[in-house]
Amino acid sequence: MQTLRLSDHLLPEFVESLKAWGTLWAPVERAPGVFDLEVIDDVRRARPDALRTILPFKKLLLKPRFTMLTGRLGEIPEDPGEGRHGPQVFFGAHACDIHALRILDLLHLSNFQDSYYLENRKNLMVVGYGCWPDERCFCASLDTSTADDGFDLFLTPLEGRMLVSVGSSLGDDVVRANPHLFEPATRQDTREYMERLGARRKAFTLSLDVTDLPYVLELKREDPVWREIGARCLCCGSCSMVCPTCSCFNVVDELVPQSVGQRVRLWDSCLFRDYAVVAGGHNFRADRADRVRNRYYHKQEAFVREFGVPSCVGCGRCIENCPTGINVVEVFGHVRGDL
Ligand code: SF4
Ligand code: SF4
Repeated sequence: MQTLRLSDHLLPEFVESLKAWGTLWAPVERAPGVFDLEVIDDVRRARPDALRTILPFKKLLLKPRFTMLTGRLGEIPEDPGEGRHGPQVFFGAHACDIHALRILDLLHLSNFQDSYYLENRKNLMVVGYGCWPDERCFCASLDTSTADDGFDLFLTPLEGRMLVSVGSSLGDDVVRANPHLFEPATRQDTREYMERLGARRKAFTLSLDVTDLPYVLELKREDPVWREIGARCLCCGSCSMVCPTCSCFNVVDELVPQSVGQRVRLWDSCLFRDYAVVAGGHNFRADRADRVRNRYYHKQEAFVREFGVPSCVGCGRCIENCPTGINVVEVFGHVRGDL
């Protein structure tokens, strides 16, 4: 992997150059302290240092709602192309985002390939940016706090400059197209990078003990804690919507004026009351406690059994956005009997 340096004052020019590779998405500050991932034109709005955006990057791969097919009765329906996004650049991906991408790849490209996801994924350039944890980050416990691959370029901020890791031939193309922006990294850069790495490791204050967690969960399926959390949970679905790896979706057929029909795909949540309703009206998870337990078990038990890793990257979004203060780390602490 090639490592270069980029001076801070050249960052806007670098970000501007990324537009040549596709629609440029970056975190922007919508309101004081509130960040969102948006398409940007003015690169000075980019805030790659923002710790977490409200919605994660998954909307770049599968929009919250898009029309898959449209047509009139008796006609062959057409794909209006809403679900296919063309080339896109995700600037400001954190290490946990890069790991979440890997999890989404496992989910959408392993057993049955999701053609919308596949096309958008192939067209996505990932430019990472080194973040600094807050009190809600627990990625270090899940081994997702750093990324060795899975990006095209990765920028780590140092004093007055960035260390740039080139992670793919696409990233190399960006460097070759802008040779005046980059210099070879020096020994001093490496030294500062190592110091930052050590200090960052110590900056984590939240941790999750994942030792044998799938096995522990298997033993604790009937634990009263699930009833207690079920009583607190509103099943509002906020935690699933903001989660970078939650991928439940629904497909519905709708009639719109002039007798045009459309088939729409939209984000869903296994926490919603009707998610597990089947033909005939039976609901397999009518009880809130069952739905809450299902989400936690899917992330830390079922996904591990199927793919060998949990489908949580410790980004802290669900902790930040739960209106009743349900905290995933505390939940597993209760399950283990630690709290
Ligand atoms: S955000 Fe909180 S209240 Fe809403 S569904 Fe998730 S755990 Fe339940
Ligand atoms: S479950 Fe919570 S902490 Fe884990 S990836 Fe999803 S939003 Fe982030």
